[in-house]
Amino acid sequence: MEYLNELEQFGDVLVNEPLLQHTTLKVGGKAKYFVYPKNEVHLMSLLNFIKENELDYKIIGKGSNLLASDDDYDGVVICLDRYFDEVVFEKNYVSAYAGGSIIYLAYEAMKRGLSGLEFASGIPGTIGGAVYMNAGAYKCEIKDILDAVWVWMKADECEFAYRTSIFKKHPDWIILAVRFHLTEKDPQEIKDIMDSRRARRMASQPLDKPSAGSVFKNPDDHPAWHYIEESGLRGKRINGAMVSCKHANFIVNEDHAKAQDILDLIELIQCTVKEKFGIELKTEVECFNWKKNS
Ligand SMILES: Cc1cc2nc3c(=O)[nH]c(=O)nc-3n(C[C@H](O)[C@H](O)[C@H](O)COP(=O)(O)OP(=O)(O)OC[C@H]3O[C@@H](n4cnc5c(N)ncnc54)[C@H](O)[C@@H]3O)c2cc1C
Repeated sequence: MEYLNELEQFGDVLVNEPLLQHTTLKVGGKAKYFVYPKNEVHLMSLLNFIKENELDYKIIGKGSNLLASDDDYDGVVICLDRYFDEVVFEKNYVSAYAGGSIIYLAYEAMKRGLSGLEFASGIPGTIGGAVYMNAGAYKCEIKDILDAVWVWMKADECEFAYRTSIFKKHPDWIILAVRFHLTEKDPQEIKDIMDSRRARRMASQPLDKPSAGSVFKNPDDHPAWHYIEESGLRGKRINGAMVSCKHANFIVNEDHAKAQDILDLIELIQCTVKEKFGIELKTEVECFNWKKNS
């Protein structure tokens, strides 16, 4: 553990930390170092240290969009979800550190009669993770309410498109904090929308099982689940990984699946849908620490 003492200057450090404890799919090998920096200065110093020592690193939030391989990761995983969680409301704006929960933020906004985050009240990620991939639901996306990203990049410079942003082109950038622009509304009205969406999610998604949400992006004409369903793959299983019977665009970790089982199932779906419909399903979930990415 040659770097442990130095790394401990920058925050809480875990060694040989199983990534399956930090991904909602509950898969992934061990990260050699897993660091929770305590503030911006720690983070900056940590990044300098990583650069000087030519270490690999990966920033993660709640791991709710990651398929981490079964291999161990010989680098530093940086996680913001322990300390970077402060939130400040100011009139119709909310500024928030990137490591906070987007669900928590949606509820805090609702209590103050601020509308705009209702769509995010069922997305189990951090604010940084949601901005990184321009998370969305019910025809709303992060970009619709984003005012600025610290390093104060304006929202219209972020190259937002369907489930993507400029940050995907720059995985070395770290989102520290953001400011959302919300609108005033009756808290009860906001709560009703959030309650009805929660009920819709509970009815249509396998929320009782480990997953990473939708596995594939929706093609232009039909949702991805339609193609998976029409390919007869609902309920298809490879070892412990299974296409959910409740929602065909979810793969669930039904019974001690390995990351490889999940990847094999993803590839099987892609091949079958391509053969049957000529459609190439692209993954929304991100593969991390794979020798060969799908
Ligand atoms: C049950 C379930 C339902 C879901 N429903 C939806 C949905 O309706 N809509 C939707 O869009 N998604 C959905 N998701 C997927 C997921 O919750 C979102 O993509 C979420 O935004 C990911 O955030 P995270 O913090 O977990 O990111 P992670 O999975 O930890 O990371 C994802 C990517 O973001 C990058 N990243 C994270 N934090 C930062 C940061 N501070 N700076 C720079 N890069 C960063 C990581 O490096 C990684 O590349 C769902 C997932 C689950 C499990």
